[in-house]
Amino acid sequence: MASDLPVSAFTEKGAEIGAEIGLSVKFAGSEKADAFGTHRSLEPAGSLPQPAQRVDNDFSRLFAGEMLLAVETLNVDAASFRQMEEAAVAAGEADASDAAAVGRAVAARVLATVKARGKQHNPVTGSGGMLLGRVIALAPGRDKLVGAAPVAVGDRVATLVSLSLTPLAIDSIGEVRATSAQLDVTGKAVLFASGAFARMPADMADRLALAVLDVAGAAPQVARLVKPGNTTLVLGAGGKSGILCAAEARRQAGPGAKVIGVESYAAYADDLRALGLCDEVIVADARDAVAVRTAVLAATGGHEADVAFSCVNVPDAEMATILCTRDRGVAYFFAMSTSFTKSALGAEGVGKDVDLMMGNGYAHGHADHTLQMMRDFPRVRALFERRYT
Ligand code: NAP
Repeated sequence: MASDLPVSAFTEKGAEIGAEIGLSVKFAGSEKADAFGTHRSLEPAGSLPQPAQRVDNDFSRLFAGEMLLAVETLNVDAASFRQMEEAAVAAGEADASDAAAVGRAVAARVLATVKARGKQHNPVTGSGGMLLGRVIALAPGRDKLVGAAPVAVGDRVATLVSLSLTPLAIDSIGEVRATSAQLDVTGKAVLFASGAFARMPADMADRLALAVLDVAGAAPQVARLVKPGNTTLVLGAGGKSGILCAAEARRQAGPGAKVIGVESYAAYADDLRALGLCDEVIVADARDAVAVRTAVLAATGGHEADVAFSCVNVPDAEMATILCTRDRGVAYFFAMSTSFTKSALGAEGVGKDVDLMMGNGYAHGHADHTLQMMRDFPRVRALFERRYT
């Protein structure tokens, strides 16, 4: 994606730009704008929008290369959603046994964050999520961007960059669905010129597509890292990304290889077992590193994993991932609840020479790869349709 933003000489600053009927949006010009969105960072001004404390969510004007979306649904990051649920209960905003009240408390926290920061950037977890919306205006400049996917006003798209950097304004929040961490909203958001997005596929429900696109970065990395015959461990294996990782590991490693899943929620462990992707599904708390190691070694006949993936939505699973990985193996941290410090110092502390990899949310072709898995693994799709739609 080019970072310079060529703009048609015919588009003057202040001119109305191409937008849905009834919507008035002015062109703010291209002088300040760049493809990464630094022009909307308010604190500190000019910084990249992800680390920014606050971004500009005034959408009465668009800068070169921007795409304005009418937001329909937010898919909040799982670690963020869980943190907000737990914090709301701890603060007495809702009773843990009242799911609807917890959902309302999470919605109130989302509104407060977006009001304060101009984006859904959870101040505790640092993570965001992604959204589903309809394109309602396109600023000049996009058409000449190198590598930009074609898009038109009216298209429905899922953003593939984090809400933690996406300027957002919310008018109201409707249904909150805790299982999928999705909130139906009315509002607007801007995608910068460098922001990846996917058009909604015609052959699956929006909620299903949104759910899997949220974790689109997970399975493609499994496909890169897991080799035929490898032993693979997945922590949080009964969750959304965990199941996709287990499915991809089974496909890559082949029938004779071992895929071990660890999941703390018994019902999700049962779902995973029923899929037949794992040789063993262990119900255990991934925060108990020694117990998890003991159980994994028992399941593998004493072999540590060649590759281990952390897909949990809670902190403190670093050491289980590392302790279960063989010498010179790979510990891959997809979980946003992962601490760099705990991983690096923890591995050193137990003398584990393993490659510690951070879960990059982006990989070439990740959206197509993950959507295709819904077609390749019909039983996974059926489970996800039951859970997330
Ligand atoms: P998810 O569907 O909620 O799955 C997490 C699973 O881990 C759930 O089944 C959960 O059980 C289980 N779990 C929770 N605590 C556990 C424990 N102590 N031991 C073992 N299992 C435990 O979440 P997801 O959407 O797949 O996301 C997983 C992680 O990926 C999150 O941390 C999220 O932030 C991260 N993520 C990363 C990226 C990236 O780009 N790297 C993108 C999206 C998401 P319960 O149902 O009981 O909670």
